[in-house]
Amino acid sequence: MKIICIGRNYVAHASELGNEVPAEPLIFMKPPSAILNSNKPLYYPDFTKSIHHEVELVLKISKNGRHIQPEFADTYYESIGLGIDFTARDLQQKCKEKGHPWEIAKGWDGSAPLSDAFIPVSEIGDPKSIHFDLQCNGQTVQKGDSALMIHSFNQIICYVSRFFKLQKGDYIFTGTPEGVGPVKKGDVLTGHLEGRKMLTCEIR
Ligand code: ZN
Repeated sequence: MKIICIGRNYVAHASELGNEVPAEPLIFMKPPSAILNSNKPLYYPDFTKSIHHEVELVLKISKNGRHIQPEFADTYYESIGLGIDFTARDLQQKCKEKGHPWEIAKGWDGSAPLSDAFIPVSEIGDPKSIHFDLQCNGQTVQKGDSALMIHSFNQIICYVSRFFKLQKGDYIFTGTPEGVGPVKKGDVLTGHLEGRKMLTCEIR
């Protein structure tokens, strides 16, 4: 199983970090050991002083495919969940300055809280406009609508599968809306998808 992540997929988020909007999807990966499920807490690691939350819609790949064509892309995922792409922003900044890869900033153990539940696409009213949010200690900090994505789910599936064979059970984190920010010990994050509570994560 692999975890593929899309960066800068919402204009307002790209701007808040001073990044250009990419013409093609920006891809990075996290290892399977990054996943934090069953609402487990995150123990703040000692190699960073600036962990940011990034709430994202997550596609669960339902069958294998390579070089997927646009007209078939939506047959490769049947359900959508919610995840957090925790980012060690201080490490990422250093990596960016040096032109280094991002793995140590993005792929560390526990950096990918993931909902246990995935909602079938058929149960989501309008899969082209999915609303989701993240609360920190009860205050809404991020609000997203998949209609505002730069690259749609289907475009992501087509692009990613040109390089990487998609396999049943893979996850694709589809990018974060604006409002990313730091977390600290004691914070409790709660994520919702179309009003349904999907995950919580306490920072310890
Ligand atoms: Zn992200």
